[in-house]
Amino acid sequence: MIDIRHIHKWYGDHHALKDVSLRVDKGEVFVICGPSGSGKSTLIRCINRLEPIQKGTIMVDGADLYAEDLNLTLLRAEIGFVFQQFNLYPHMTVLENITLAPTMVRKMDKKEAREIAMDLLGKVNIPDKADAYPGQLSGGQQQRVAIARGLAMQPKIMLFDEPTSALDPEMINEVLDVMKTLAKEGMTMLCVTHEMGFAREVADQVVFMDEGTLIEQDTPERFFSNP
Ligand code: ADP
Ligand code: ADP
Repeated sequence: MIDIRHIHKWYGDHHALKDVSLRVDKGEVFVICGPSGSGKSTLIRCINRLEPIQKGTIMVDGADLYAEDLNLTLLRAEIGFVFQQFNLYPHMTVLENITLAPTMVRKMDKKEAREIAMDLLGKVNIPDKADAYPGQLSGGQQQRVAIARGLAMQPKIMLFDEPTSALDPEMINEVLDVMKTLAKEGMTMLCVTHEMGFAREVADQVVFMDEGTLIEQDTPERFFSNP
């Protein structure tokens, strides 16, 4: 589903990704961990071309991310992205936030988009918040709206960049629970997170990065067992 081969990424003269290769099959959940500044966020931002790479190849569901005829809008529609900061539109209701991309990009009709959004709000356990504005919600609720917004495009892959790092402790589990449900349903997921309990319980593979290099990749059982 995601096939990353020997990629390099520089920000000016800072070598942020050094010969990183990674393969994620359909339905697999990868957790990426490592110290701050090790390139985790950069790696997942490269997967939907929020950041360009300078060397190597990235294939997503068989499509080369740097092919000349790539439809970037459609590719991005296949990849849901959830950030640390929820990035909801503050002047739009929850429902409007979720239906915006499906109606604009997928050209879904408003009624259908609304039905899908209401289903998703149920799935993320906030069925009664459709008409609220983001500012009226807790951080955990906003992040669940952000997940619903990603899912509304019916993506094949979900990328998470520290989705719980900006949350108060009591709200972390409500977001992780939604992510666990998605994982159980077979969503292909790549998650940057410091939540090692989540990694142990849910990940198929745990990846450790340091200084732009992929240092280790293994199953959680082996990754967390002290040799
Ligand atoms: P992590 O997610 O592991 O904390 P990042 O991918 O955010 O790491 O950053 C990796 C390195 O690249 C860091 O040294 C960071 O300062 C640098 N970096 C990230 N984004 C940029 C940018 N837009 N411009 C310049 N340097 C950047
Ligand atoms: P994260 O590790 O989650 O990416 P950061 O605070 O490192 O969070 O980065 C937030 C934003 O700032 C990102 O868009 C990143 O690309 C950019 N950024 C990070 N480090 C630098 C840097 N040294 N110079 C310029 N932009 C940076």
